[in-house]
Amino acid sequence: MSSSFSCRGTVQTGKGRILGNWGFGRLESSPSELSVRAPLLSRLAFTPKDVVSLDSFTRIPILYWGIRIRHVRKDCPQTVRFRALRTPESLLSGIEGSGFLPQGVESDECLACGKTMPKTAAACPSCGWTFASDGANDA
Ligand SMILES: [Zn+2]
Repeated sequence: MSSSFSCRGTVQTGKGRILGNWGFGRLESSPSELSVRAPLLSRLAFTPKDVVSLDSFTRIPILYWGIRIRHVRKDCPQTVRFRALRTPESLLSGIEGSGFLPQGVESDECLACGKTMPKTAAACPSCGWTFASDGANDA
């Protein structure tokens, strides 16, 4: 049941609360890639491993809603969102129906050895260092 999915809308990129709006954009999804582009924005493409999750948001129905691509790419804007007239739910189901399934894991850098470690890990897989402090943060 894998087929490509695409939708027109507005791409938003940026960091924190400061977002640029890129009109006349397009979101495309396939089993191997999720991408957004717009006439004045170079194409941003993500593999399933780049994407941690796809979150919907609604500020004002129809006027201001869409999805956010939570990703782990360091070379892309931290915030990548896509707004369309169709509901966020239908965008998400369209992407899911295309066969694109997020597989990314947010990672942190181990403060001890500098290797990347999954954000959910209790201890560094490389050196065993752990976030849990030995009493320093106890109330
Ligand atoms: Zn480590």
